[in-house]
Amino acid sequence: MSTEFDVVVIGAGPAGYHAAIRAAQLGLKTACIDAALGKDGQPALGGTCLRVGCIPSKALLDSSRQFWNMQHLFGEHGISADNAKIDVGTMVGRKDKIVKQFTGGIAALFKANKITPYYGFGQLQPGKRVSVKQHDGSMVELTGKHIVIAAGSDSIELPFAKFDGKHIVDNVGALDFTAVPKRLGVIGAGVIGLELGSVWKRLGAEVTILEALPDFLGAADAEVARAALKEFKKQGLDIKLGAKVSKAEIKNGEVHLTYNDGKADQNLIVDKLLVAVGRKAASKGLLAEGTGVKLNERGQIEVDEHCRTGVDGIWAVGDCVRGPMLAHKGFEEGIAVAELIAGLPGHVNFDTIPWVIYTEPEIAWVGKTEQQLKAEGIEYKTGSFPFAAVGRAVAMGEPAGFVKVIAHAETDRVLGMHLVGVGVSELVHEGVLTMEFHGSAEDLARICHAHPTLSEAIHDAAMAVDKRAIHKVN
Ligand SMILES: Cc1cc2nc3c(=O)[nH]c(=O)nc-3n(C[C@H](O)[C@H](O)[C@H](O)COP(=O)(O)OP(=O)(O)OC[C@H]3O[C@@H](n4cnc5c(N)ncnc54)[C@H](O)[C@@H]3O)c2cc1C
Repeated sequence: MSTEFDVVVIGAGPAGYHAAIRAAQLGLKTACIDAALGKDGQPALGGTCLRVGCIPSKALLDSSRQFWNMQHLFGEHGISADNAKIDVGTMVGRKDKIVKQFTGGIAALFKANKITPYYGFGQLQPGKRVSVKQHDGSMVELTGKHIVIAAGSDSIELPFAKFDGKHIVDNVGALDFTAVPKRLGVIGAGVIGLELGSVWKRLGAEVTILEALPDFLGAADAEVARAALKEFKKQGLDIKLGAKVSKAEIKNGEVHLTYNDGKADQNLIVDKLLVAVGRKAASKGLLAEGTGVKLNERGQIEVDEHCRTGVDGIWAVGDCVRGPMLAHKGFEEGIAVAELIAGLPGHVNFDTIPWVIYTEPEIAWVGKTEQQLKAEGIEYKTGSFPFAAVGRAVAMGEPAGFVKVIAHAETDRVLGMHLVGVGVSELVHEGVLTMEFHGSAEDLARICHAHPTLSEAIHDAAMAVDKRAIHKVN
């Protein structure tokens, strides 16, 4: 079989498989290499996202939400669900089935698009060559007119809390607990810590989240972060801010933690510890000597705004380069690079990438926060609307949260939309679309929204920008 391709992609995660499929659609002869194995020991395409990230975490969030709602929400609907029980094995098995369906789906898409998959570890060599150590130990060398590096990211390990896969785990372990831990400690109140902490809290674990920073969710709009923190506390998530962990020792099957709360050292004993302090580019062993591709001080592959590495024909996309570590950011970069290779005008608009945290309530935003605009000296106006005044949200028994629209003080152009509440992972796209088309708060306010829907919160928030919301006193 020929090992010469137009495009060789290293990594079949969201960024890599999008690049490979789009390149193949554009008539380019494409190969894609991936080293990952699934839980069954077989090659599994789809990267962190499909195997141990976005999709399995959402499967468990949905299962655990059903259980939580049964205990906390059903009663007000007049439905009794006494003695609700959770079978963790069935829940995790359902998650595994969904993962398998999607990783298998990528293999089927590769086949349909005539992309040649290689299963093993790829290393970029000088001269647009990639050597692949396949799972059976054999080596193969591929050449590409273009190489796209999409190697993704790995969990960051703390030197004093090494992963043992049993007591101290990362996302991979926390997606596969065989029983609900009685006490779960989480280091890091970021997206992964909050989502996976929520899963096990809803199923009955005592969850303590230790966050070194003094502010909760610093990247989110401060008002949204405050509202979300209040709801998480109501649910019983114990979130300790300004708590710097210095020690984690496994003793008698428990994890003994020492953290400083700014005043003194404190101790915490948990049964399982999830370390969720961020992810780092998976660049280890990826580049042979002399490729010319550079890494920055964070180990990320250096690229320009078009994902060019500076070495002719070598591109890099997704979590292994700068920018937010989000699957959909990788999707867009993968597509853009394939189109640029094919001579089309590929482009990613970093200003309209949405952020979502799939907790309850959900948190979502696009564009600038109030704190960013203040720091940049940009004059703006805001309009907010609470879900407590939205008929559909109240009928659903989900009145928490609000929508905030931020518009430029003079031009009225939408600069950001910040949401916390039920279903906002979907609603945020109205903000994305408005910003992509350079729309104004007035445009949003004049769009007819179906009644009763959750999207009416956006309509009224947009109207509130000019103090003319109908369903609240402005
Ligand atoms: C628990 C969790 C939940 C998440 N939830 C969300 C979410 O809801 N929404 C969201 O947008 N993002 C989410 N993310 C982040 C998302 O998973 C990543 O941003 C995304 O997977 C990055 O895509 P990628 O293609 O750049 O890299 P990856 O998905 O990491 O894929 C890289 C692939 O390359 C392979 N690889 C690496 N090096 C080599 C090599 N040298 N040779 C061969 N193969 C190699 C790896 O095995 C892997 O399969 C979540 C992450 C985690 C951990």
